Amino acid sequence: MVAPFVYTGNPARVVFGAGTLALLPEEIERLGLQRVLIVATPQQAAEAEALAIRLGGRAAAIFAEAAMHTPVDVTERALAAMAGTAVDGLIAVGGGSTTGLAKAIALRTDLPQIVAPTTYAGSEMTPILGETKDGRKTTLTSPKVLPEVVIYDVDLTLTLPPALSLTSGMNAIAHAVEALYAREANPVITLMAEEGIAALARALPVIVPSPKDREARSDALYGAWLCGICLGSVGMALHHKLCHTLGGTFDLPHSETHTAVLPHAVAYNAPAAPDAMRRVARALGVGEAAGGLYDLASKLGAKMALRDLGMPESGIDRAADLALQNPYFNPRPLERDAIRTLIRNAWAGVRPAAA
Ligand code: NAD
Repeated sequence: MVAPFVYTGNPARVVFGAGTLALLPEEIERLGLQRVLIVATPQQAAEAEALAIRLGGRAAAIFAEAAMHTPVDVTERALAAMAGTAVDGLIAVGGGSTTGLAKAIALRTDLPQIVAPTTYAGSEMTPILGETKDGRKTTLTSPKVLPEVVIYDVDLTLTLPPALSLTSGMNAIAHAVEALYAREANPVITLMAEEGIAALARALPVIVPSPKDREARSDALYGAWLCGICLGSVGMALHHKLCHTLGGTFDLPHSETHTAVLPHAVAYNAPAAPDAMRRVARALGVGEAAGGLYDLASKLGAKMALRDLGMPESGIDRAADLALQNPYFNPRPLERDAIRTLIRNAWAGVRPAAA
């Protein structure tokens, strides 16, 4: 028997393949856009410039100052740069930071967005925007920030460095894992979550030694798309809350933090979510979820200890306190001592013990 559920799908047009960025002019036309702003990070400014040349007169301007965690002052500079340019659409080429900037501009202008993701973060499939102002990060959900069109071009991911490919892939897997035990879990998202984890788990061991392998890159990007839908469709729990808190409090890198925390958050929730654990383990092709996630990332060379990412030992208690503030849904109730142990284990980078 199928348990009762509620499913809400986010509207988005998705174009997937290799070389698909060549279809951007058609997609721009389809939306009836005349003058677009291209956003990127400073590191990917060259890609933005190449795109502007390709678009000719339809590229009104480039703003290549996107930064991690979507600082509001950067968004304000982008809005100022757009003033008087009659921009009627936004093009983002990059990872979650670039997508975040396009979303922040769309929130304030309602302009349509076409996003071409170059990492596995998944932000392009969500109506979620995290912004930082005066060192404080706030998160909002609004249909205004959901991109209208997403062009997944496998070729854009070939340059993603192996270490970042791995942690970005683990970041994507984390969305799917938490979707499997979400309060709003439903059969469609569960299918996507399992398939997303399996695609990434199969691709990452190939990509790390062979980052130009198109087949593995295609699998990984497909998995990232599915995991992004999971993130955008159901609520996240302890793992995402912890990463948000740790990242913000100790200024830790985003996908690397997800990689180190995920096995421990999963070990914590395992007793309360046996069906989700079975599905994660099956998708990974292992006997046990938490250890399987740890082995996948550590064997490929990811840093598994938060201390190696810059978190001080003295921060463990503070992080445990913060994780218990503002209660939120989690399959296993939040217990201070067990959460402290979880954070301590992630800090030290030990392999989680089987539940
Ligand atoms: P990122 O966008 O910060 O990219 C990291 C670096 O890699 C940047 O310098 C970027 O230019 C570079 N890069 C990206 N793709 C590349 C490629 N293919 N080749 C070479 N260099 C490349 O990293 P990220 O992990 O994708 O995004 C993290 C940010 O996204 C965080 O701020 C996070 O909060 C946000 N995020 C938001 C959501 C959401 O739904 N709102 C979801 C996931 C992540």
